[in-house]
Amino acid sequence: MTPETCPNCGAAVPPRAKCCPGCGSDEATGWSDRAHSSRLDLPDEEFDYDEFVKDEFGPQREKPPGVRWLWLIVVLVLIGGLLAWYWP
Ligand SMILES: [Zn+2]
Repeated sequence: MTPETCPNCGAAVPPRAKCCPGCGSDEATGWSDRAHSSRLDLPDEEFDYDEFVKDEFGPQREKPPGVRWLWLIVVLVLIGGLLAWYWP
C-alpha cells in the first residue's frame, strides 16, 4: 500500500506512485529512512550512462570490423560477375 503522505519525510505521495517523490522511500524499503541514504530504485539518481551505453552498443562494437568489408567484396564480385556476363 502506498501511504498518502510519506512517513519518512512527510511529502504528499501520489496514489499510484511507486516511491516517494520527496525522499525516494518505497514499498521495497518499507517507507523507511533507509531509502533516503541508499536511494534504491531511483533510475534518475542511479542512472549510469557509461554502463547504459556499454549495454546498448557493446555487442555491436564487438563484431569484427572485417565482416562489413567481406560483404562489400562479395557484392562487388557479384556485380563484376554480372557485368562480365552481360558484356559482349
Ligand atoms: Zn518521503
